[in-house]
Amino acid sequence: MLEIKGLKVSFRTYSGEVQAVRGVDLELEEGGILAIVGESGCGKSVTAQSILKLHDPGIASYKDGEILLDGKDLLKFSEKEIQKIRGKEISMIFQDPMTSLNPTMTVGNQIIEVLREHERDEKGHKISKKAARERAVELLKMVRIPNAERRINEYPHEFSGGQRQRVMIAIAMACAPRILIADEPTTALDVTVQAQILELMKEMQRERGTSIIIISHDMGAVASIAKNVAVMYGGLVVESGTAEDIFYRHEHPYTKGLLDSVPKAGQRKDRELDSIEGTPPDLIKPPVGCPFADRCKYAMQICRDHLPEETVLSDDHKCRCWLLDSECPHKRLSLRKYDDSDGEE
Ligand code: SF4
Repeated sequence: MLEIKGLKVSFRTYSGEVQAVRGVDLELEEGGILAIVGESGCGKSVTAQSILKLHDPGIASYKDGEILLDGKDLLKFSEKEIQKIRGKEISMIFQDPMTSLNPTMTVGNQIIEVLREHERDEKGHKISKKAARERAVELLKMVRIPNAERRINEYPHEFSGGQRQRVMIAIAMACAPRILIADEPTTALDVTVQAQILELMKEMQRERGTSIIIISHDMGAVASIAKNVAVMYGGLVVESGTAEDIFYRHEHPYTKGLLDSVPKAGQRKDRELDSIEGTPPDLIKPPVGCPFADRCKYAMQICRDHLPEETVLSDDHKCRCWLLDSECPHKRLSLRKYDDSDGEE
């Protein structure tokens, strides 16, 4: 349904050109839920925002690649053409609803505005204010805002953080988009509300067939929702696969590091979580080899000298790591076996 092929995105800054995305391939299937995970600065949000060409053309440039929706390259669309896609075909929600909602307008009017902008009646005219208002109440009910008929007249500051994110989902779903992109949608919320928002998104996928891309720095947050996961680091996808591949059969040391930093069920409360030492690479001068080499305890000389190609582990599961190369002295030892053997063959 949506295919990203060889995407490269750079930003001009005073310090130089930041190569934020350096050749990303991703696929979202119809009705699928794809999670893109990684630390901040890994390129996940830049990739997602490129789908709707949301970057400031004054500083961002799409250096290479294609973003194909039903075979048509969105990167070649004019601003006018992409505007027709935004909201109607593909919608997006962000981490902080307060920055996306207009504080001076009631939430009802904000939903009505979106509906009247995109929706047409059978004669091709904008839908009436009355019809849009009825639809807005339905949408607020759909995202479980209590007393929707009354609360439609309230302003964003009168809603809690979780309710504001629900309102954003209602706006994003107003025109029944085929794809919903959620950029860190639950980061600002407490754990219980986070679970409710993710459950709501899962419901959209189940009941409306909406395909979802969820961006997160937190593996734990996406575990309950993702069908497929892509792990990004240093502007590249370093591992991708089904959720089972990534959570139970991961092969990349960075994926392992991300998972080790998530609290496990039954873990003692006083046990410190593992964290990945070091900092991500400078993408103004990205490393020629594996971007994770400076932080990887398995790094070999070849890792610093050459970028590993993707190793295809199964139909869905791919990983970019020299440990998986057939010539590697550790001969495809899985990370678990490698750790048990203390790095010795
Ligand atoms: Fe570590 Fe080398 Fe694999 Fe990169 S390629 S993750 S440095 S072992």
